[in-house]
Amino acid sequence: MSVKHIGVIGGGITGLTATYELQKHFARIGQPVRITLLEKGGKLGGAIQTLKRDGFVIEKGPDSFLARKPAVLDLSKDLDLMDHLVGMSPAASKSYIYLNGRLHPMPAGLAMGIPTQMKPFIGTRLLSIPGKARAALDLVLPKKKTPGDESLGSLIERRLGSQVADRLVGPILAGIYAGDLHRLSTAATFPQLQAMEEHNRSLILGMVAARNHPLPAMPDPARMQLPPHLRGSMFLTYKGGLGTLVERLADALQQAGTQICLNSPVRQLSRQQEGYAIHLSDQTIQVDRIILAVPAEQAQSILQHASTPLSSRLEQIPSVSVANVVMAFDQAQFKRPLQGSGFVIPRQEGLFITACTWTSMKWSHTAPEGKVLLRAYVGHWADQTHVQLTDQELTHLVLKDLTRILGEQATPLFTEISRHSEAMSQYLVGHVERLQAIEDELGGQFPNLVVAGRSYRGVGIPDCVAQGKAAAQRLYRTNL
Ligand SMILES: Cc1cc2nc3c(=O)[nH]c(=O)nc-3n(C[C@H](O)[C@H](O)[C@H](O)COP(=O)(O)OP(=O)(O)OC[C@H]3O[C@@H](n4cnc5c(N)ncnc54)[C@H](O)[C@@H]3O)c2cc1C
Repeated sequence: MSVKHIGVIGGGITGLTATYELQKHFARIGQPVRITLLEKGGKLGGAIQTLKRDGFVIEKGPDSFLARKPAVLDLSKDLDLMDHLVGMSPAASKSYIYLNGRLHPMPAGLAMGIPTQMKPFIGTRLLSIPGKARAALDLVLPKKKTPGDESLGSLIERRLGSQVADRLVGPILAGIYAGDLHRLSTAATFPQLQAMEEHNRSLILGMVAARNHPLPAMPDPARMQLPPHLRGSMFLTYKGGLGTLVERLADALQQAGTQICLNSPVRQLSRQQEGYAIHLSDQTIQVDRIILAVPAEQAQSILQHASTPLSSRLEQIPSVSVANVVMAFDQAQFKRPLQGSGFVIPRQEGLFITACTWTSMKWSHTAPEGKVLLRAYVGHWADQTHVQLTDQELTHLVLKDLTRILGEQATPLFTEISRHSEAMSQYLVGHVERLQAIEDELGGQFPNLVVAGRSYRGVGIPDCVAQGKAAAQRLYRTNL
């Protein structure tokens, strides 16, 4: 019997995890297989890129992962990375919203922008009195009668009013999707909100109930292995940055003999009598099975000649481009110490940046003693032009906004700019049905080809890791 060949396309965290899971499985059962990982760029990791400079740990893409979802912790345990984990600094528990020319503390008890504690919500200046009264109507309004998906914007406005949508929920969620609240699907992004309306009628009461009576959690062995001081941290990362995970995965794959091909953009896939042909610019590779761990735009381009219906559905999962501007400073440049993790800015404020993380306050390992690291975010669904500005223009505009917001004029020691072209996947209304149609099409026409990654079932790193693992399991559970 000839050795089977599996191709994984895309060397981001999804493709890396999928490849690792495949390699581990076949080693465990003692079946020889050939696995080839094809990555378009010159580096592995996709959006995850860590840079070390002058004692700073700089994340050019994501900076941490949600600790509550177990996939990354399980993988960290597997890769012997538990000792590398670090949690958020307790000094960063506060965060702010910039509104009407000043920073307002985020009221205590907000969950995804929805109030769960009355006193801080009544006391906040982020909403007007009519805005708060409108939010309180959520407690008495009847629930939606028609079932089905709706946009997050529509749900929040319908229940809590436009001020909560524009000033709280919108800016908080902008960091995850950089998307249009009025087009993002509730069913695909936060299905728990739909369930809350269904069961509790009110989102406020639903959130309060969820906080008071969290679902009984499954015992989570990886989480229980965390040192106690990390168990309370909502987000985690590694002391050497998220790149640590990418490096460790790449090392494990190389040691196991996986063929990793960088600078290998896949142009097309075609079905063969048995298996598939993967077409690159200078060669064609024959494989038996494929994991397509590239975003939907690239999957669409790769599959466009193979299936028109599939390609047109993939086209309906767009992505938005963003940039982030990391700046290092001497702490002495700030007369007033920064306190908290940073701030978000509602779009209506008309500023250039959408948010700023006080990175070194949030993650103490990211800057040497006496230095400060800030990260400003640029670009969202309605602003795709500013991302294309030159480095000088970006630096100038970011500094202008920071001076205005912080009331301090500081000169950075250095600036690192990262542009992420079409990097934030948008789950638009109808995403869940669209995904089902894609799965049906694949199941019918493309046996043993699985798609996974940020365009499909979650954009966060834990979701991508979980998807990579699930994709590998789907492939190896049907006998090779
Ligand atoms: C700026 C930014 C900040 C973020 N912050 C966070 C955060 O703090 N926490 C969090 O959990 N998530 C965060 N995310 C989201 C998360 O990082 C990503 O959704 C996740 O890393 C995506 O992984 P992926 O492997 O699915 O896709 P990608 O990382 O996009 O990887 C896809 C890979 O496929 C390759 N590829 C594409 N086309 C081809 C082709 N034709 N042939 C071969 N290879 C190809 C690409 O080069 C790329 O390496 C952030 C994302 C961005 C952009």
